[in-house]
Order: sequence, then C-alpha cells, then structure tokens
Amino acid sequence: MTASTTPFPTGTVLGYPRIGRRRELKRAVEAYWAGAIDEAELEARAARLRAETRERLATLGLERTGSAIPESFSYYDQVLDAAVAVGAVPERFSDLRDERGGLDLAGYFTVARGEGERAPLEMTKWFDSNYHYLVPEIGPEMEFSLHAERLVAQFAEARAAGFVTRPVVVGPVTFLALAKAVDGAPAGFRPLDRLDDLVAVYAALLAEFARAGAEWVQLDEPALVSEALDVPRGRVLAAAAAAYARLGALESRPALFVAAPYGALDEALPVLAATPVEAIGLDLVRGAVPPASDAATEAALRAKTLVVGVVDGHNIWRGDLSAALDRAEALRERAGAVAVSTSTSLLHVPHDVDDETRLDPRLVSWLAFADQKVGQVATLARGLVEGRDVVAEPLAAASAALLDRAGAPGVRVPAVRQRLADLVDADFHRGAEAERVAAQASLDLPELPTTTIGSFPQTGELRAARARLVRGELDAGGYEALMRAEIERVVRLQEDLGLDVLVHGEPERNDMVQYFAELLDGFAVTEHGWVQSYGSRCTRPSLLWGDVSRPAPMTVEWSAFAQSLSDKPVKGMLTGPVTILAWSFVRDDQPLADTARQVALALRDEIADLEDAGIRIIQVDEPALRELLPLKIADQPAYLDWSVGSFTLATAAAAPATQVHTHLCYSEFGVVIDAIKGLDADVTSIEAARSRMEVVDDLAESGFDHGIGPGVYDIHSPRVPSAVELQELLERAAAGIPAGRLWVNPDCGLKTRGYDETVASLANLVEATRAVRAGLAAERTGIGAAG
Ligand code: GLN
Ligand code: ZN
Repeated sequence: MTASTTPFPTGTVLGYPRIGRRRELKRAVEAYWAGAIDEAELEARAARLRAETRERLATLGLERTGSAIPESFSYYDQVLDAAVAVGAVPERFSDLRDERGGLDLAGYFTVARGEGERAPLEMTKWFDSNYHYLVPEIGPEMEFSLHAERLVAQFAEARAAGFVTRPVVVGPVTFLALAKAVDGAPAGFRPLDRLDDLVAVYAALLAEFARAGAEWVQLDEPALVSEALDVPRGRVLAAAAAAYARLGALESRPALFVAAPYGALDEALPVLAATPVEAIGLDLVRGAVPPASDAATEAALRAKTLVVGVVDGHNIWRGDLSAALDRAEALRERAGAVAVSTSTSLLHVPHDVDDETRLDPRLVSWLAFADQKVGQVATLARGLVEGRDVVAEPLAAASAALLDRAGAPGVRVPAVRQRLADLVDADFHRGAEAERVAAQASLDLPELPTTTIGSFPQTGELRAARARLVRGELDAGGYEALMRAEIERVVRLQEDLGLDVLVHGEPERNDMVQYFAELLDGFAVTEHGWVQSYGSRCTRPSLLWGDVSRPAPMTVEWSAFAQSLSDKPVKGMLTGPVTILAWSFVRDDQPLADTARQVALALRDEIADLEDAGIRIIQVDEPALRELLPLKIADQPAYLDWSVGSFTLATAAAAPATQVHTHLCYSEFGVVIDAIKGLDADVTSIEAARSRMEVVDDLAESGFDHGIGPGVYDIHSPRVPSAVELQELLERAAAGIPAGRLWVNPDCGLKTRGYDETVASLANLVEATRAVRAGLAAERTGIGAAG
C-alpha cells in the first residue's frame, strides 16, 4: 500500500461557510437562475469566492499547504455534489446527462430545484442541524460512474494558487444511509445494498485525487454517530467496516481522514479503528472523550491521527479554550498523533463577528463566528505542539470572557429564575379534555371547521414596507397603517371565501422566530449573521444569550385588531418554545430545558393577554419539535420530556373555553407520536397531503383522540388542487377520524405562495368541505331513516 504519508496538519476545520460574507454566492446563483448572468460569470464569481476563502483561512492561521485548508465549496449542497460525482442521478433527469453520464451546471441545478412536472430531489434536515440536504434516490439497477471533474478542478485551482488543500466529500456510508430507495424498488431493497458498487466509484475518485496531488481526503461520515437513521445501526457499522477496509487497501491513494461530526462515535470507533484509515475525527463538543476500549482498538488508535473537534462548529460562543486544550491533550497518550479541529463544519455559523458593528461590544466579546473559530483552532494547535505557555494569553482571554459573561447583567435575572423555581407540577397541565370540549362549544363551529395555518402570502409590498421601516424611510405609524390595511384585506378575503376560523395573516412577521426574538429580553439580532439553510436560502438566527422575559405584549394588538373586524373567531398565533430555540443560537451555559421553560413563561403571559383581549383560539406552532430530537436514543426520552413540558407550560393556563391549537410541519410520527399526545393541544394540524392521508391510519392506530387537521394540500407548490381532489382526500380522512374531531386546512402557512393560487385553492377547500359535510349529514339521515 502506498498511501500518502504526509502527516495530518495539527490544526484544521471540517468545512467553512460557502455562501460568502455578504451572501455573494446566493446572489450569483440566483442571478444565474434569473438569467441575469451567464454560466461563465457564475463560475468566475464562485472561483473568486473560493480563492478568497483560502486566502482568508491562511490569514486566520491555517497552513497554506499540508492539507490544512478544506476544499468544502458547494454550489448548492454537498450531498448533491456527491450524487453527481458518482453518477447517482435519478432516471427522470437522464436526458440532462452528457454522453459520459455527467451533468453540467444547469443540469445540476435542475436536479436540485426541479423543472415543470419533474420533481427535484426531496430535501430534508441534515442530522440535528438546521441545514437541509437533497436526498439521493438509489435503485437496484442504477449504474454508478465517476464524474469527479469539478471536485478535482477545485483542488487543482487551489494548487495553482500555491495551496495544497484537502478535498472534502460525503463518505459512501453516509451517502447511502441518507438516500432513499427509488419508487418501484423491490420491497426490502435498501440503498446500502449498493455499497460495493458505490465504493468502487469512491475508489476511482480517490485515485483521481491522488493523481492530482492530494495528500489527504476528508470523507464525512456523520451517519456513524446517529442512532436516528431509518437504517439499523448494525447495518451502518458493517457498511463502514467494509467500505473503509476496501478503500484503505487501495494501491495508490491519498491518506484518509474520516470525520464523524454531530455526536460520539461510540461503537463505531472500534469499527473505524480496525480499518486502515489514517485519521479519525471525533466530535468532542457533543460527545465526551471516548472511554478506553479493548486492547486491539487502543493499539490501532496508537497508529492513527485523532482529529479532535474541540471547537464548537455548531454554535457561536467563544467557549472555554483551556478546557478544549485539556480534551485534546487527554487523547495524546492514546493516539499516534492528535490534531485540533472544529466539531463540525463551520457551515452552521456566520462568517465573522467583526461584521456586527451594531451589537453590544460586551456581547460580541463572548462570541466566535467562523473566522474567530478558525483562529481558535490555530491557537489550540499551537498550544498542542509548542506547549500551553505559548498560548497562555489567548487562553486567559477566553476564560476572562467566559467569566464576564457569567456575571453580566441580563444573563441571570433573579425574577426570571425565581419564577422557574416556583413552578409546580400543576403549572404544566390543563384541565380534562372533556371539560374543555364542552366549554369550547361556545365557539359555535360547524362540523369539519375550515381554517389556515396562519400566514398569508408575504407580498413584495409587505417586504418593501419592512425594508423601508428598517432604513428609516417609513415611520412606525406609517408601517402600522400598512399592516392594518393588509390584515383587514386578509380578514375580508377569508370571510368572502367562507372559512370558519380566521387568521390575521402574519404580515408583520419577518420570520416566525426572529419576530419574537426582537421583542423578548435575552435575545439579540445580528446584521450579517446569515447561515445557509438550503441551496441559496439563508436564515439569520437570533442569539439567545440571557434569561428570557417579555417586557410587553408581542402579538396582542395585531390579533385584537383582526378580531375586531369579524364575528368569526380569529386565531392568535405564536411560535412555540422548542421552535424558538431550534432556530436560534442558544446559550450553552445552562440546560436547554431551562431556557425552554423561560421562553414558555413569556408565551404563557402572552396567551393570558390574548385571552383578555377576547381571542378565543390560540395556535402555538411547533414545527421544530421533531428536528431537535437527539441522534442518540438514550437522549431522546429526556428531550421529549422537556420539549413537551415547555409547550404545556406555555399553554396550560389557558381557560377551558380557550381552544389551543398547534401546528407541526410533518407527519412521519414514529417516536414523536406520544410527544404529540403529550402536547395536549385541543387541535393539531399536520402535514398529510404528500402522503395522501396515509397518516390518518397511523393516527387512528395510535389512539390520538383530540382535534386533528391533516393538511389537504401541499403549500410547497403553486399547484391548485381541484375541489374534487380535496373532497376525495377529506372523505378518506373522515373515514378514519370522527367528524367531530376533523379539521380542514392546508399543510402549512401560505407565506411563500402567491395570491392567485392561494385564493383558488382555498375556495376549492371550502367547496370540498361543504360537499363532505352534506355527505355526512345525508349519511346520518339515511341511517336515522333506516333505524
Ligand atoms: N403559523 C406559521 C405560518 O403559517 C407556521 C409556519 C410553520 O409551521 N413553519 O407561516
Ligand atoms: Zn408548517
């Protein structure tokens, strides 16, 4: 075996944000999609961004050579990149492929985004992060073939600029473990069945990298830490053993670094240790230093480099550098060599804290975004090699910042803490459901009530008004007048459509989390803190840094105004504690459960104020409830306990006559169904249209016995469902759910839709509901007549 023998660099990061400090890549890609720039211009801008990134990383302290700088660019998604590189492109896109089976850039984006009737690859969450990847579709017959041009070209481009970088590719085990079987695959077929064929292509890829001069290649294998995959864990471990035995045995290849972010490797560590890979990455932020294992494993580790992820790649705190160095040093005795890295790719954090000129400088001194984290890695690497004394100053500065943070005003607010300490079990429970149902009869709703999930289309005018407000071109009064006019329009529209439970439409919300973050104490909002959510889509998570409390009502005026316009009930609309946490950067100095309870108490007060203002139905959205589910099974019960507890703490003080709704954006319930029951909401709306109401049977089976609104149409598409189609779906739902508990609503909020399709779809929804109601009534009279 002639693997490259260059030692692993002592400091590195697993990946760097690719969207650009000012979202240059987003702008370029969207301009290309819109036809405003051509492919050559897009390629040129992307190349410039990659060049700037390498220079930046070198300036921040990573070696220009020696494979310290990761080559982790992607135009859209790293899983899609891997799919394209191995030729795993679904049949429906085959006409886009060239004679060798490759895809050009336009074809690549078509697979990502779909085109006309051709659906794109499905998108789903990447482990327990807020990043979304494209799900490869793998069939038993699919022919894999190598198309490494782009990956190799980026390495060569770096070399030409004087760098020796480290290509980063999603590893074969994770690729297949995350893939789904193509439609029509034989029952029992799993993408992992194709491991041998895929590994052959990865072998060819490694050979290409070796030819291009790569010393090290990083294969990302987060599937090895997760117990929350659809594939049995034993199968994943066996695949890792087989794949890395084979790749490790290749004649001529770069050295292999298998990275395993997002948690502890646990039983996967001995498996990897037994393969010939040269370096193994450990996430020591999420996972602990692994306990000593069997003698064979420990012996194997002494011949490898352990790349210890001690700088948190997933959150924005400056952290405790001394403790990080301790952890790295703790593994020294056990490994051939130890190198320092981030725990995950820096993809999850914004670029640079120094861009945040409007944040309180004291808060800024507690933070580290991507660039600061690269600096931390460089510091720790130096400390590891040259000794602690050499880096005493930065270590002390980080410790001082931590101390300052612990004692700063707002971080621990006695009144908030006292309120938490005083909570008793009863604060988490509403009265009996039967009593609530009786009290809520005063709402006087028809059978199968119709409603929407909350938001109406966010028009260009609304966004422009918000931008003018931020720039100071529109004053608060002017902005409020515009929002009120919009609310009035939306209320009238819903009355005209004949919907039963109305919403105010959420025109005033820039985002369902940031809106609340801006109004609650304990949060801060960044100016440039964008992170990639998927493709060119970015989000700007708020920073939850201190104890949370509500200085003033947040939604009451808008909801009360909307309710004043109609005799029909208007739903109050709040975002739940788990979702607020999931979509923010959350303080790491206390358990998430405590932070969630603080948010819950603020929402509890908001609910009381909404009730006082005459709002009789209140929806608390928890679309992220399933997202935060821990990857380790042992951690799941505690999570479900506190997440459900925070929801019930927020809602339990509502009067029996107040109808509490919740909304979840998904329907594969699995382990979360008990949690959903535990939320004890009077009505739960869920996603159901894409599976054509399959979820109804699961629900019936689970014994779920509260109100339920299985979404009847998919709001992710502009397609208008016909009344006939909706009626059929509703009849299917009504067959499994008693009419008294069935609600009628779309899958999710309408904010990304246009008005034309929204109005047409909702009109059909109301028409279909009326038909089903009439059918149910006729059935009853029929039965009555027969009896
Ligand atoms: N109420 C929100 C809306 O309608 C819910 C969105 C969500 O669940 N993601 O937009
Ligand atoms: Zn939703």
